[in-house]
Amino acid sequence: MSHPSYVEIDFIQFKKNITNIKKYLQEVSLCLPVKANAYGHGLVPIGKAAVEAGVDYLAVAHLQEGVLLRKAKIEIPILVLGAFHEDQIEDFRKFNLEFSISSEFKANLVAAKWGKRRNKKYRVHLEVDTGMQRTGVRPSTAASLFTHLKNLQCFEICGIYSHLATADSPLDGFAIYQIEQFRHLLEDPIFAKERMIRHLANSGGTAYFPSSHFDMVRPSLLAFGYLSKDRPEGLKEVAPCFSLKSKVSYFKVVEAGQGISYGHTYITKKRTRVVTVPIGYGDGYRRCLSNRGSVLIRGHRFPIVGMVCMDQFMVDVGDMEVRVGDEVVLIGRQGGNEILLQEIADLCDTTPYEILCGFNERLPRVEGKKKELTP
Ligand SMILES: *Cc1c(COP(=O)(O)O)cnc(C)c1O
Repeated sequence: MSHPSYVEIDFIQFKKNITNIKKYLQEVSLCLPVKANAYGHGLVPIGKAAVEAGVDYLAVAHLQEGVLLRKAKIEIPILVLGAFHEDQIEDFRKFNLEFSISSEFKANLVAAKWGKRRNKKYRVHLEVDTGMQRTGVRPSTAASLFTHLKNLQCFEICGIYSHLATADSPLDGFAIYQIEQFRHLLEDPIFAKERMIRHLANSGGTAYFPSSHFDMVRPSLLAFGYLSKDRPEGLKEVAPCFSLKSKVSYFKVVEAGQGISYGHTYITKKRTRVVTVPIGYGDGYRRCLSNRGSVLIRGHRFPIVGMVCMDQFMVDVGDMEVRVGDEVVLIGRQGGNEILLQEIADLCDTTPYEILCGFNERLPRVEGKKKELTP
């Protein structure tokens, strides 16, 4: 294996999550956003597993992510969510990627390119801002932009969508307001008679707001097995499929009163055994876990002592017989013990999203049975 530390993905559980969500949705289509290296799980392996599990659509944030999926021979529809730039326009068509249009200005940029070529149409989704204030045309101008797109002739309008800002809390009032805005907009006869995919829900919408489902949902965090609050009865089989593991790389006995790691922020209270784990903030294992986080070795939980370095950190294992090469679990289960992603996120004062995305390319993604995956 290329690195003693690795991300282990349980693809059986991941596919179970997709199956569970599909069953819960019944007639509604499922789009899986796989942006940011599929939330750190590995873009291409997750994209392929998602296709095998019957996902209808994939979504990414940027053109380059869509191109990687196409180069890996993934053929289902892919929507690029983020705003695009002029120099990317031709690649959307070349790689058969759908993209978002949220202003007349951008629509005109595309149309200007079309003027020269006039072959295949650009497949787009009209993005409406119902209250996120990020990207998207306002509901009041959505109909006129839509008419403009039709008049330009170069677009095949595949969908219309918006994004929820606060749906991670069940019964959130603002989420209900956004759903209502979107529903009301779609009642406009100009949209009502159009055959296109209407989509709004992220994970929170999918789990807590059935009225946000429309034709298709876009839950990522949920598909990876996480949800901040209690999940509904119909989604009980959904569980995490991500573990972070390493191997003890060094062992020593340290006398009492010794400072450990940069800055000596930890001083040993008594003679103890200290082991080194070869992963650090250079891999995405956050420095804020210094003197706060813990790991599992031989089924027991031990504290991180001293600062987390770029490539390694130290663990105080007390009197425990630990050997070089022993498995270290940083996120996930070992024996009867478990370290949850949420625990790491709480210690770092952030969300599970940010922790997951932080695990970078230096960490190989490995299948449950320890087979290394091609990135
Ligand atoms: C990231 C993203 C999602 C998925 O969000 P989750 O909270 O992980 O479900 C859905 N839609 C858009 C537009 C996004 O940017």
